[in-house]
Amino acid sequence: MVHRVAVVDRDLCQSKKCGLECIRDCPVNINGEDCIHLDEEKIALISEELCIGCGICIKVCPFDAIDILNLSEELKEEKIHQFGVNSFRLFRIPVVRKGEVIGLVGRNGIGKSTALKILSGSLIPNLGDYEHEAGWEPFLRYLSGKETKDHFQRIAEGEVAVSMKPQAVYRIPETWKKETATLLKRMDEGGRLSEVVKALNLEGAMKKKVPDLSGGELQRVAVAAAALREADLYLFDEPSSYNDVYQRLAVSRVIRSIADRGKSVLVVEHDLAFLDYVTDYVQVIYGEPGVYGVVSGLYSSRTGINSLLEGYLPQENIRFRDHPVSFGDRSVVETVESEEKIATYGRIKKKFTGFRMTIGGGSLTRGSILGIVGANALGKTTFLRLIAGEEKPSEG
Ligand code: SF4
Ligand code: SF4
Repeated sequence: MVHRVAVVDRDLCQSKKCGLECIRDCPVNINGEDCIHLDEEKIALISEELCIGCGICIKVCPFDAIDILNLSEELKEEKIHQFGVNSFRLFRIPVVRKGEVIGLVGRNGIGKSTALKILSGSLIPNLGDYEHEAGWEPFLRYLSGKETKDHFQRIAEGEVAVSMKPQAVYRIPETWKKETATLLKRMDEGGRLSEVVKALNLEGAMKKKVPDLSGGELQRVAVAAAALREADLYLFDEPSSYNDVYQRLAVSRVIRSIADRGKSVLVVEHDLAFLDYVTDYVQVIYGEPGVYGVVSGLYSSRTGINSLLEGYLPQENIRFRDHPVSFGDRSVVETVESEEKIATYGRIKKKFTGFRMTIGGGSLTRGSILGIVGANALGKTTFLRLIAGEEKPSEG
């Protein structure tokens, strides 16, 4: 048995510009029933009860506005939230555990942010009933016998303090124009300011105004602000972005130290190496971006990450991708001497006020990829600009 999921992208559906092909060609409509019609806002509205899943509307819509999927009937009983008719829905909810870091991975648009909002209590799940105002009672009844019941019971009673590092750190300067130190002092509810500032290498950023911080500094300031607050649950939405490998390591140590104090921590992250280092367990959200997301069971970090790459969840016996993600089988070092060189450069020196760099000679070869690694602010961009001719060398 399957249950039908019909999603109409309200931004893509343009009924004034199309020939209403979905309504015209739907076989259920042709048979005289009302499977698709336009709603009050002139957007296609599909009845999931009447739809037979033939997929004709998907093919005939000139704007790719429709998705129709068949999901297992059992999943229907595990719907946590649906935003509205023919819209995205989330099945199952991640687990949080005291003293442990749990990672949440999945593609963009798959429901990670929705899950975070529910876990933090800022979104009350409606169990799919989008026509009535949601309340905690039905959700708590649904959770009966499940591990997360206690967390949500305390959320409903207002007993869980939540500290969140948002994904969109670039928006922080819109609301905080003063010095970093003023911001972090205000967040320091546990007297750990100097310890966290040192751990995140933020000493140099403390006197800067927040709008003047680099992307990496801003990210670490946001991590510090969340870590400094006294909370029961800490949520970090993509904490590694903009930072180099050393700074990511520093961020991961700070996040781990929060769990070591017995707090619950949940991390949403795309950097799998970071996740492997920082988490105790991983949950994968799979599904179709913008259509539906399903939260997997709890996996040990290594198994969860391998399952994500493999596209197969062994506990659930679900293949959510028909091919594994592979990083190839090349050896780390390959000689490319015989291939065509498209640029060759000798030893180059470049000086700026307070900064100098020396580049050993080398060459770029057609068809090969040259990787450049190193900490932020060591000259990687300058190197690229020199090679591209956008920057003149001081010597060489
Ligand atoms: S879903 Fe496609 S075919 Fe149907 S009304 Fe919207 S734009 Fe037209
Ligand atoms: S998939 Fe459903 S809504 Fe679309 S044409 Fe077929 S029956 Fe109609």
